Amino acid sequence: MFAQVIVDIAHSQVDRIFEYSCPDGVKVGSRVKVPFGGRVIDGFVIGVSRASAYSPEKVKPIAEIFDEQPALIPECFSLMQKISSRYRVPKAVALRLFLPSEMRLGKVREAYKNYAVFVSADIKLSASAKKQAQALSFIEEKGECEYTHLCDTFGRGAVNSLADKGAVRIEKRKVARNPFAGLPAAGEARTLTPAQQSALEEIECSEKTVHLIHGVTGSGKTEIYLSVIAREIQRGRTAIFLVPEISLTPQMLMQLRGRFGGAAAILHSGLSAGERFDEWQRLRSGEAKIAIGARSAVFAPLENIGAIIIDEEHDSSYVSESAPRYSTVEIAKMRAEYNGAKLVLGSATPSVETYVKASGGEYGLITLTERINKKPLPEIIIADMRREVKRGNNTVFSKALREELDETLKSGNQAIIFLNRRGYSKTVMCRDCGYVAKCENCDVTLTYHSEENCLKCHYCGAKYRMLTACPDCGGRHVLYNGTGTQKVVSDLKTLFPSARIIRMDNDSVSGKDGHYNILKQFSEKKADILVGTQMIAKGHDFPSVTLVGILDADMSLHFSDYRSGERTFQLITQVSGRSGRSGEAGKVVLQTCSPENYILRYATNYDYAGFFNNEISLRKATGFPPYSLICRVMVTSEKGDAALEALKNVYFSIDELRKTHPDEFIFFNKMHSPIKKIQGKLRYQVLMRLKGYALIDKIYDIAVKNTSANCLVYVEENPINLS
Ligand code: ADP
Ligand code: ZN
Repeated sequence: MFAQVIVDIAHSQVDRIFEYSCPDGVKVGSRVKVPFGGRVIDGFVIGVSRASAYSPEKVKPIAEIFDEQPALIPECFSLMQKISSRYRVPKAVALRLFLPSEMRLGKVREAYKNYAVFVSADIKLSASAKKQAQALSFIEEKGECEYTHLCDTFGRGAVNSLADKGAVRIEKRKVARNPFAGLPAAGEARTLTPAQQSALEEIECSEKTVHLIHGVTGSGKTEIYLSVIAREIQRGRTAIFLVPEISLTPQMLMQLRGRFGGAAAILHSGLSAGERFDEWQRLRSGEAKIAIGARSAVFAPLENIGAIIIDEEHDSSYVSESAPRYSTVEIAKMRAEYNGAKLVLGSATPSVETYVKASGGEYGLITLTERINKKPLPEIIIADMRREVKRGNNTVFSKALREELDETLKSGNQAIIFLNRRGYSKTVMCRDCGYVAKCENCDVTLTYHSEENCLKCHYCGAKYRMLTACPDCGGRHVLYNGTGTQKVVSDLKTLFPSARIIRMDNDSVSGKDGHYNILKQFSEKKADILVGTQMIAKGHDFPSVTLVGILDADMSLHFSDYRSGERTFQLITQVSGRSGRSGEAGKVVLQTCSPENYILRYATNYDYAGFFNNEISLRKATGFPPYSLICRVMVTSEKGDAALEALKNVYFSIDELRKTHPDEFIFFNKMHSPIKKIQGKLRYQVLMRLKGYALIDKIYDIAVKNTSANCLVYVEENPINLS
């Protein structure tokens, strides 16, 4: 027999299929070790055949075969082809997406535990062997028990003697490490409301593969997702459920576990390597049928998929920011088509790109305009911060927010305070000369963190000592600009000394349970106010929250990004949606310095249609996505001359393209990236706006051609972040 093998090397020069001889019975999809260029390396079997195209003495044998059950499912090979040609990565890199990294590196093993199993009480024990007698009657009654538990109770000597005498048998058994085992399972199936029921039917009956559920916050989208999944499971099919960040949504996990028990498995980077491996195995073996996770769970090893759900589809975490820079929706669509499955996208604030497709009929569109039980959406009160300053209020809290907070605390309800920034304050500046503290590796301003009394770079994590004097002029007046979550907490403590306040941002949480613990504290009402960044905007359902304060609604409005209006609208709607979800009606205080801004007006009126119509005509008029494709070719290197050389070549090659296809280009230029350096790597870019995708393959080619050991060149399509 012969096996066609892809070697696990991420290099375009070996991005081919190699042939090896192998024994009968080698299965397609297995991982193997093969001799390659004097070494033995990992590979994947992507095909087997009786005959070889090469003469027998040229074909070497496979060195080792893993996996009783092939690690890769058949669908991988079709996706591998699509991904490697769409995003121009070697096939090996595409295949890696389908395996947990621990598995490739061979680091994780399955976990085993010893059990003691009762065999027979028909043995002779001396009268003095009391422990053995006790252990024997214990195990006789139980039938079996964990070996270590038995030893801890009766002594290892006694247990081993019983084993020697044949009264008990020690058995090694595989155990699955169970992440979030302590998580309470919540929620049995509810009776669907008529709106939910008709959404379910529409997804079922429509011919379309993709559906968008556009439903206001609290309209019961989750229950629809769960019903879609339940139906597919009943039919013997499987499902993938994607959420922006799984550690932020333990409630979702609880609901899934409550509904589907062990049939749900979690794929999540915060798990330990062993846990992740075991969950992956459970899916691969068919024991688990539902994968829940963030972006990368779209590659779950499930066959016969009936449904893929993408919750909060507008979320930027669904775009990968490292190679391959795939869009999760695009991959999910490929998988849905391959499996004949339904793809369901859901959001209260769909991305403009998605909504265009849904309203144009390419996707099915399901609209839910009301919250469950017709609960009103929270009233949004605008606080004009310019007026506050005029009135002599220089704190970060408007009068309205202070009063509402006071009332909320008095009534025993909870509040969420949101701001778009972490750290104690934004920047540190010298009042005398205007010096601003910046990172040495990254060309970005540093942020002061009061808990550690240091300055941190949010791009590379570097820490710097706090300044006592200005390094430029020696001046002693160092100022803090802006406000961060830590500062808000300390100001709140002064205003409301008896309130219990917790904070959630990237600095306050660590470990896989960090988020969960904070959210749990808050949902058990062990705190009155939760202060946080974007993290608290996503999908939470806290029944007692009746007030949300948005401290700086403008923050994201002023980014120089065509999506900043869309982002702001989404953020305000999502954060506001945390208020008044059950019980009492909720309120939102939105602080801003530009209350007349049209985005804020649409957001405060929950007018998605108004926002969308305005935004889409703006994009059309200015030629921005979805009416164009923004394409950035990044050139990064530690060496300035290598970067400039590559930049010149890339620019020249694309310019040649432009000469032959002038109509495809709306905009074209080369420049420094807005952030000139990150982690010591210089960053240059060629930025263009194209009419469409006609030239995208050629541009990927140019990037691949100019990548060298010294210099990385890669393509980003409609980048989330233009820094
Ligand atoms: P969304 O995901 O649209 O923001 P959720 O799915 O979180 O909304 O639902 C909002 C609230 O309504 C939740 O507390 C949920 O438990 C409840 N809910 C959803 N569907 C039903 C139903 N059919 N009957 C009763 N309560 C429901
Ligand atoms: Zn840095």
